[in-house]
Amino acid sequence: MTLVPLRPLLEAADQYKYGQGAFNVNTVAQVKAAIEIHEIFRSPVLLQGADLVNGFMGGRTDFLNSTIEDKRKGAKLLGDAVRKYGENSPVPIALHLDHGQDLDSVKAAIDGGFTSVMIDGSSLPYDDNVELTREAVKYAHQYGVTVEGELGILAGVEDAVFSESSTYTNPLQAYDFIKKTGVDALAISYGTMHGPNKGKDVKLRREIVTAIREILNHENTFCAIVSHGSSTIPSYIVNDINQLGGEVSNAGGISIPEIQQAIAAGVNKINVDSDIRLAVTRNLRELFEDSPELRASQSIAGIYQLLSGNKNQVDPRAFLTPIMDTVMNGTIPTDDIRIAVDQIEKGVKEVVGKLIINFGSVGKASLVEQLTLENMRVKYQK
Ligand SMILES: [Zn+2]
Repeated sequence: MTLVPLRPLLEAADQYKYGQGAFNVNTVAQVKAAIEIHEIFRSPVLLQGADLVNGFMGGRTDFLNSTIEDKRKGAKLLGDAVRKYGENSPVPIALHLDHGQDLDSVKAAIDGGFTSVMIDGSSLPYDDNVELTREAVKYAHQYGVTVEGELGILAGVEDAVFSESSTYTNPLQAYDFIKKTGVDALAISYGTMHGPNKGKDVKLRREIVTAIREILNHENTFCAIVSHGSSTIPSYIVNDINQLGGEVSNAGGISIPEIQQAIAAGVNKINVDSDIRLAVTRNLRELFEDSPELRASQSIAGIYQLLSGNKNQVDPRAFLTPIMDTVMNGTIPTDDIRIAVDQIEKGVKEVVGKLIINFGSVGKASLVEQLTLENMRVKYQK
C-alpha cells in the first residue's frame, strides 16, 4: 500500500472511538520498527517527523539550526524510509509533519512525500494564526494532503485550575478557527505538555474536548481533535535509565487512564515522542552495561562516550551522531552497529506496542476507508 492521507485514519478513529497514536520518528531504524509493530497488531500507522527533526534526518546534528534545505533533505529521507518499509504493508500508513513552522516547511514535507502536515501558528495572534493556517490548508488540500492546526498554548499544567490567564483552548474559538481555516485536525491545549517533565498526577481538562466535540456535532462539521505532549513517561523505564548511570529527575507523564478518558471524550490523535526517546536511551545504556567490550568498539564507542557525558539527556539524537549514515539512510556497515540498531528497534516496539493496545487501535486497520491523495484532492474541491 502506498502512503495514504491521514484524514481517513482520523475519521475511522472518530467513528469507532479509538485513539490513533501518532509516533515521532527520527531514524530509519525507528521507522522500520514502528511499522513492524503496527503490522503485528493490525493497527493503522501514523508516523510523524517534527519540522526541526527533519533537519536532523537531513544530516544536521545541531538540528535546532536546521535550514529549509536541511529539512527538505531530511523530509525526503524520512519519506523514502517510510515508503521502503511500508511498501507492501497490509495496514494503511500516513506520514505527518509535526509542528510545521511555516509554509516552506509544509512544502518541503509534501515534496518529500508526507501525506499530512501540521502548521503551528499557536504562538501567533489569533487572526494571524487563522491566516497562516488557511494558507497551509489551501496549499496542502490541492494535493489531497491532510492539515492539522493548533489553538491554545501547551504550558503551565501543574495546576489544573481554570483561570483568566489560562492558555487552554477556548471551545467557541476552536469552532470559529475550524470553520475559518478548514483544517482536518486541531491540536488543543487541555493540560498536556511536551517533554518528559509534565508534573505529577496530571489531570486533563477533558471538558474542553467534550465541549468542542458537542459544537462540532451540532454544526455537523468533522474535525479531529489532537492531543500533543501525551507521552506516559513509564516510571520503570526512567528507573532503569537511572540505574544504568543516567540522571533523569522530575520525570512525569500523562497516565494511561487519563488518555483513555480523553479518547472517550473525543480525542482522536495522540502524539507520543518522549516515551520512544526514553526506551531507546535505556536500551543503549543497557547495551554498554551488558557488553562492556562495545565501549571500545570502532563504530559505536562514540555513542557510549556521548551517553556517559550526558547523564540527564534522554534524546537519542544527542547520542546517535556517530552513526549518522545509519540514522539517515539505514545503512548497517558493521556488526556492532547492527547490535545498536537492534536495541533502537526494540525500544520503539516496546513502547509503541504498549500504546497501540492502550489506545484501542489494535485490529482497526481494516476499518480505515481506502482513499488515495487523489481521492482526497477531489473531495476537498467539492
Ligand atoms: Zn506537539
